[in-house]
Amino acid sequence: MLDFKLTQHQQEAQPLVEVEQKEHQVYDLIILGGGPAGLTAAIYAGRAALKALVLAGSLPGGQIANAEMVENFPGFPDGIAGAELAQQVHEQAQRFDATIITEVVREVDFSVYPLEVRTSSNIYHARAVIIATGTIPRRLGVSGESEFYGRGVSTCATCDGFFYRDRRVVVVGGGDSAVEEGLFLTKFAREVIVVHRRDELRACDMLQKRAFANPKMRFVWDSVVEGILGDQAVKGIRVRNVKTGETSVIDTDGVFVYIGLIPVTGIFKGQVDIDDNGYIITDRRQQTSVPGVFAAGDVQNPDFRQAVVAAGSGAVAAIEVGRFLAGLSQTQ
Ligand code: NAP
Repeated sequence: MLDFKLTQHQQEAQPLVEVEQKEHQVYDLIILGGGPAGLTAAIYAGRAALKALVLAGSLPGGQIANAEMVENFPGFPDGIAGAELAQQVHEQAQRFDATIITEVVREVDFSVYPLEVRTSSNIYHARAVIIATGTIPRRLGVSGESEFYGRGVSTCATCDGFFYRDRRVVVVGGGDSAVEEGLFLTKFAREVIVVHRRDELRACDMLQKRAFANPKMRFVWDSVVEGILGDQAVKGIRVRNVKTGETSVIDTDGVFVYIGLIPVTGIFKGQVDIDDNGYIITDRRQQTSVPGVFAAGDVQNPDFRQAVVAAGSGAVAAIEVGRFLAGLSQTQ
């Protein structure tokens, strides 16, 4: 059952105006995030004649923009580069009049209505919000990782693979990302060593087959990284075999970390219901615990992290925003 009513608190509360307010208009919809979920929502909002603002963050495109090749997005039988797919969705959203800006949301207040969203330079208000902030790569949390980040430690093979021509690199992880990006790295590196904490990969069968058949790929099983070693640049990693307890050093010029993703939901804590793993809880219509606030994409879906699923949930969220706003106007 849909409930289009605002909470009592939302009806009574006034927007906060502690900092200079540069934006005075109230948008129909503010979309937080510029990945497939957020931009698909923008396309649907535009087609429903909703005035939408997309705060795309500092790195628009979402995780998919870092994928070298996307082979499972419908409509591209030969595959499409992740960056190109992101660019095309961006252009499509602009065609439907979405305003897309690269500001990063710093704070939200969903206890007021219109709903309030703050960046470091602006305060925005909207009658509905879609949270589509996605995920960021999980870090190993070992010594040397932060120190060498951007100087030999990377979470983006597409961005940094080129620098490892004829070098040896390590990929950490056993999922689709680790194997897919490891395969991509074989185009440049002379050897790609996959270090995985178990003795079997999580990646899909097709990727596993490709990886095991690639002569440049090598696997170090049952091993966890305990430290990243080097001086000016990365020189190696220290690994521990979890079955034998033995530690050893693997020489490498680069370390690509693909050990999963964590949802970007820190600023929404206390505003909407979030589960124990940090994902926003929605119903099947993408509605969160707060009227007028919806969530779409990886930020609310740890089980099906696919660009096409994210795009689909963005469409659902935008359609529901239209219904919410129509319902609201009928009750006012
Ligand atoms: P993922 O599926 O969560 O895999 C993470 C991998 O890292 C797992 O192998 C896991 O080991 C390992 N890991 C986790 N924490 C670790 C730690 N602290 N230390 C060492 N290893 C650790 O993440 P992902 O590969 O980034 O994929 C994310 C989602 O995107 C998935 O749903 C995936 O299917 C999807 N994806 C799809 C495609 C595609 O369709 N082509 C491409 C990329 C990603 P265990 O296996 O032991 O848990």
